Amino acid sequence: MNKTKEKQIVKAYDLSFELYISEEDIKTKVQEMAAKITAKYKDLNPLIIAVLNGSFIFAADLTRACAMDCDISFVKLASYEGLKSTGDISTLIGLEQDVKDRHIIVVEDIVDTGNTIATFLPKLKELHPASVAVASLLLKPEPFNNLFTVDYIGFEIPNKFVIGYGLDYNGRARNLKGIYQLIETV
Ligand code: IMP
Repeated sequence: MNKTKEKQIVKAYDLSFELYISEEDIKTKVQEMAAKITAKYKDLNPLIIAVLNGSFIFAADLTRACAMDCDISFVKLASYEGLKSTGDISTLIGLEQDVKDRHIIVVEDIVDTGNTIATFLPKLKELHPASVAVASLLLKPEPFNNLFTVDYIGFEIPNKFVIGYGLDYNGRARNLKGIYQLIETV
């Protein structure tokens, strides 16, 4: 296959970002996470809830790498504007599927402060699922509020803004294959 080399530096609007996690490294990590999830859930027919928008690429790759029967659903939660979390989480698109007695895996692209998932989990638990786990490709331990456990973590990263592989800066750059970190200017 003809592989095009990823750019090392990309621009999104006024900001520059450098390659931080390559497409290859993401692929390897997603396979590892999927293997762990499959080992635990293969006989449980889990319901995977992908948190839109950011997790759409990760959720697509993760679920296809999981060798098990599962259902997939989506919720849309938003707390970010530009480079900062607003702390105000609204459920924009709610759950359509019955979660009662189901084993749930919530799939996020990134846990930053954790406010989004910390707000969503109690609402989910009110619906009496059999179990709830959280899988996130990225976790920023520094801002994380530690209000819940991230059961499956891809990469722990520093507290710097990143884009690519589903993550955006004001709607842009989600389609980058790698993950890029903001180059901070002094
Ligand atoms: P939290 O509620 O602070 O954990 O933020 C979660 C959401 O904020 C994620 O699902 C992303 O959509 C967004 N987010 C957090 N950090 C970043 C980042 O570094 N780049 C892009 N989006 C981010």
